[in-house]
Amino acid sequence: MDLEALYRDLHSHPELAFTEHRTAGIVAGHLADLGLEVHTGIATTGVVGVLRNGAGPTVLLRADMDALPVREQTGLPWASTATVVDEHGDAVPLMHACGHDIHVTCLLGAVEALAAARAEWSGTLVALFQPAEEQGGGAQVMVEDGLYERIPVPDIVLGQHVVPHPAGMVGAHPGAALAAVDTMEVTLHGRGGHGSQPETTIDPVVMAAATVMRLQTVVSREVSPKDTAVVTVGSLHAGTKNNIIAAEATLGISVRSFDEGVRQRVLAGVDRIIAAESQASGAPTAPEMEWGERYPVTMNDPEATARVNAAFAAAFGEEHVLSPGALSGSEDVGNLATAAGAPLVYWLLGGSDPEAVRAAVAAGTVDRDIPTNHSPFFAPLPQPTIDTGVRALVVAAREWLRSSSDGPAAEHS
Ligand SMILES: [Zn+2]
Ligand SMILES: [Zn+2]
Repeated sequence: MDLEALYRDLHSHPELAFTEHRTAGIVAGHLADLGLEVHTGIATTGVVGVLRNGAGPTVLLRADMDALPVREQTGLPWASTATVVDEHGDAVPLMHACGHDIHVTCLLGAVEALAAARAEWSGTLVALFQPAEEQGGGAQVMVEDGLYERIPVPDIVLGQHVVPHPAGMVGAHPGAALAAVDTMEVTLHGRGGHGSQPETTIDPVVMAAATVMRLQTVVSREVSPKDTAVVTVGSLHAGTKNNIIAAEATLGISVRSFDEGVRQRVLAGVDRIIAAESQASGAPTAPEMEWGERYPVTMNDPEATARVNAAFAAAFGEEHVLSPGALSGSEDVGNLATAAGAPLVYWLLGGSDPEAVRAAVAAGTVDRDIPTNHSPFFAPLPQPTIDTGVRALVVAAREWLRSSSDGPAAEHS
């Protein structure tokens, strides 16, 4: 398989959550060519390949497939120009701005390598290609669509995410590795009217402004400095014209946390402030809240994580193993492990130009010069990122897939 060509092709054909039909077709084709048993259409576009190769543990390797509504500005020859028409009839630009195209490419490469080396190991390999990580909770939807009635239940769940660390680096954080996220849409109700007669209205713009400012006190005043949380109001909409007072305002809010107690405390604070600011404005109707994505903390099993990091050190050299710490981003891969009752190891894969990172670190300009996931400039270096990602998946999987010679799991020598 020409993995770089595959990557460029996937990159220039991004697809949104639950519409990854082209990607899923390409994946299913390669899995069938490699001799795997292929299951398609799980949670609409999910694809799973199973390679049964004798007695031994079942290892699940996961990649997510969806892209984002971002207009690509990388200027790369394989940059995306794709668009999709939204429900208002507007063209929305699409980009693999989170690197899920890297994930798909690496997992197909790993399946190819493990299938070619099947004489060297025994057990069952499950390669899972998940839709809708960015929105819609594809992992849980796959579980609810009967995933583990269709495929063998794994003993370990493994996966990776490309991030703006130097390419060639790889490593997992034990314990709480990625934050829980709770997202919500809030509608604040006022009373609309003429912009010249505010006394006849209840202005939802003022209500929203007060709410946004006060929400920023939850983390600073209600969460211990030893704990971590984020409250972000990422969208704020009200009104149509400067001389009309709108009837309502909507806020899109996301809350990140690493600890269940902190999570409950922050969510209670958010709830209380929204209700109280609405009441303070004299709102005729209480605000409404609709939940969006709610992903749990991504919890890496400490023992299995130590095993994977040691295997990475043996394979790549100690100096290529990252200690990434906990990240405030969120993931739904944990749902695949929880539903199986299996431990999870989810590691980070560097994708940025090591020279550029070094220069930015020296100049203190990392936040400005090194594009992050979801940026229109996010462009992982195809190599050595792909080779490292393929090898990381193979090395980690082989920690559980037994050496075919006999009993215990393969150890690195
Ligand atoms: Zn993302
Ligand atoms: Zn992602």
